[in-house]
Amino acid sequence: MAAVEFETVIGIEVHAQLVTKSKAFCSCPSVYGGEPNTQTCPVCLGLPGALPVLNNDAVSMAILMGLATGCRIAPRSVFARKNYFYPDCPKNYQISMYDKPLCEEGRLEFELDGEIRGVALERIHLEEDAGKLIHADEGGSLVDFNRCGVPLIEIVSKPEIGSAEEASRYLVALRQLLRYLGICDGNMEEGSLRCDVNISLRRPGDKLGTKTEIKNLNSFRAVELGIRFEIERQAGVLRSGGRIEQVTNLWDSGQKKLLTMRSKEYAHDYRYFPEPDLLPLDVDGAWIERLRAALPELPLSREKRFREKFGLPAYDANVLCAEKGLADYYETVVGAGSDPKLAANWVMREILEETRSGAEFAVASAPVPAERLAELIALVSGGVISNSAGREVFKEMVKSADPAAKVVERLGLTQVSGEKELEQWVSDAIAANPDEVARYKAGKTQLLGFFVGQVMKKSAGKANPKLTGEIVKKKLEG
Ligand SMILES: [Zn+2]
Repeated sequence: MAAVEFETVIGIEVHAQLVTKSKAFCSCPSVYGGEPNTQTCPVCLGLPGALPVLNNDAVSMAILMGLATGCRIAPRSVFARKNYFYPDCPKNYQISMYDKPLCEEGRLEFELDGEIRGVALERIHLEEDAGKLIHADEGGSLVDFNRCGVPLIEIVSKPEIGSAEEASRYLVALRQLLRYLGICDGNMEEGSLRCDVNISLRRPGDKLGTKTEIKNLNSFRAVELGIRFEIERQAGVLRSGGRIEQVTNLWDSGQKKLLTMRSKEYAHDYRYFPEPDLLPLDVDGAWIERLRAALPELPLSREKRFREKFGLPAYDANVLCAEKGLADYYETVVGAGSDPKLAANWVMREILEETRSGAEFAVASAPVPAERLAELIALVSGGVISNSAGREVFKEMVKSADPAAKVVERLGLTQVSGEKELEQWVSDAIAANPDEVARYKAGKTQLLGFFVGQVMKKSAGKANPKLTGEIVKKKLEG
């Protein structure tokens, strides 16, 4: 292998909006999509004299994420003011955490090229979101303060990520975990999951190079593309003997390119100091243990269990565990008596085909209830209907919400296993295809499938394929 010219060093900061009912420090609703400036109050507008009150649910959610990633949860953490002046921030500071964060020293694991890879996390802390600027077509900008004060966790990785692909896998795993925990919907388009990436290059053996930042990465695709662009750009500068400037790049998703914005701020520009309006956050052991007991089975262990307990291939386990709701659904189907591998096939094919992509899978709103799918699978594996008839029945079940047996009856799909009828169909198929018969007899026995197919066609999918195969064999070989 050729020597590596440059090593890539990537660190990622993710802001994840927590799905609490109310905001981090006031009782305004924190739901997305309200009419602009209808979800505000003196606290989140920063009016004089208004005091913040911490939302305990936000703390619990942040701790859950800390526990799920093996972080140390600080018994005492401290909120800090991050001062900056911008129209999206009416207080002129954001309440965040600085030198005493809530969670430290964790690790996020994910699969990369068939192996488990771990990236160390520096910290997870709580903070509040800023408002949103809307640039009006007729010129000027409008500001919507609904998002002001919505609770976020910031998850900061150590600079241990080595490629665009690994960065993207890290984010996919992070989003999956947040959704498993039910603390963030992970919707990157609506901005409930946002990420900033730091990138530097160095020649092998050198110390860390100067890093640049990319902001505005609003999809996994943007993350991969943006990082690839920046790696190429930096490599070009270094190859020609230039120096990397510490800049911030904005990803322009329309033009698919990076726009260099301004030189990066340093922490001291924010003049952090402890938030005087809030007490230090004390978290006792009982609180932590309660949350630890509430942790769901996490994606990687669930995949492992699916492989071991249900004998599923790694691919199936991975697809089924991509979302907690889907994995729950699958387990309900198996729990209702279906063969695990058959159930996996039906869920991955039929159920996922009927599920809107991008939406979170929920057991309660599945295209067909789990117990009903199990009934259908039982009809197929018991030989009452053929596999192809089963797929037809499934489509009907999605539309009509009728149980499988009723649909089978209505469509007249009950599989024909009567020897007399099957024999007649097979004889017809043999008589109609003398060339194939001759080739079969000359040793091309793979043509068995051809004859079974002919019978299936003739019977409109109702012939029992297994019995049909046996009769074809008997007639052509016996
Ligand atoms: Zn408010």
